[in-house]
Amino acid sequence: MKLDVKNIRYLSRDDWRVLTATEQGSRNHEIVPTPLIASLAALGGGGVPKSISALAKTNLIARVKNARYDGYRLTYGGLDYLALHTHTKAGTVYSVGNQIGVGKESDIFVCAAPETGRQLVLKIHRLGRISFRTVKANRDYLRNRAGGSWMYMSRLAAMKEFEFMKALRREGFPVPEPVGQSRHTVVMSLVDAFPLRQISRVGEPAALYGELMGLIVRLARYGLIHGDFNEFNILVEEKMDADDEDGPITLIPTLIDFPQMVSIDHVNADFYFDRDVTCIKRYFSRRFGFTADEPGPFFKDSTKKLIKRLDVEVEASGFSRKMAKTLEAYMKEHGVDGDAGEAERSDDDDADDAGENETGEGEGQDAQGHHHASEPLSPTPNPPTATTALTP
Ligand code: ADP
Ligand code: MG
Repeated sequence: MKLDVKNIRYLSRDDWRVLTATEQGSRNHEIVPTPLIASLAALGGGGVPKSISALAKTNLIARVKNARYDGYRLTYGGLDYLALHTHTKAGTVYSVGNQIGVGKESDIFVCAAPETGRQLVLKIHRLGRISFRTVKANRDYLRNRAGGSWMYMSRLAAMKEFEFMKALRREGFPVPEPVGQSRHTVVMSLVDAFPLRQISRVGEPAALYGELMGLIVRLARYGLIHGDFNEFNILVEEKMDADDEDGPITLIPTLIDFPQMVSIDHVNADFYFDRDVTCIKRYFSRRFGFTADEPGPFFKDSTKKLIKRLDVEVEASGFSRKMAKTLEAYMKEHGVDGDAGEAERSDDDDADDAGENETGEGEGQDAQGHHHASEPLSPTPNPPTATTALTP
């Protein structure tokens, strides 16, 4: 989905209050009655109608026709702006640049931090983008949340991702650095690497294979199963010896994409564990013709000696078990299967059609080309030219 940030600088203080009021009202109203927006915004004078029309014009809120009463709903664009506004005020994001990823349930943008211009990634979760048919069939989640379901579910996904990323990072797992979270968005460090999917040269596959299986096992020892462990969610940095282009490459994996993480206590934990393992086995066999000598790893062995229970820690830290259940039920019902479905369908001969954020088969020396897919991003201290500043 498009993220058009060019209007964000021109919103007045009143506009922000009205936008925030619409968000507040949508917790209990599918269509927020105009008088409620006005009372929540609590603007002196007659500023509300003016702001409402400005926000509607830029599609941050949408007038709902055919309703029993006059009202508005917050759009994805409006929610994006509110989240970006929060990141800006928190000093985490200064500007937004190119889109580097489009998933079924998320959009990924490069953005820059204020002052340092450090490049970051903004991940916007968009869970309601998929069919709403099944939602109608089961109004359970909607009973108290009216039409805010997509908003709430996307926020749960972002919260979950952020909490797990923090916990994993703290324990030294190779994951991006979590920087901030607001509503349906997560800000994290930019990993300058390709998804494994785009890596054509791995040298000796056994080393990387061993490292990835080791990662699956280590996660389990910390109480966790990634649940979507595949060639799209493993970024691999290729480190080459500067003096020897044909020499060995060191491959450094980073794990991303955590909304489907499950606890080792999950009723289907062994199934998810095996699926993660199988995914890597299949990929290594198809892509690199590599098959390990040893079977496994197995769930039972991996969870015999636990080091720590990050699943329990995260549960206590703000992403509750109830939230996890709600999100899981929603994802299940909507057939949200992350990249796993994609991985299963893919095989060797469609290796270069995997996504919009690809530059092709990326030879090692083109590794930096990853983020050049749309616009060049310079590693200068200033925000890249292609980005749009969010404040006047
Ligand atoms: P989705 O849920 O849509 O699969 P991901 O978190 O897997 O979202 O991100 C999609 C793609 O965006 C990844 O395959 C990767 O190419 C890119 N990406 C995501 N996060 C980062 C990051 N922190 N650094 C660099 N690239 C990233
Ligand atoms: Mg992914």
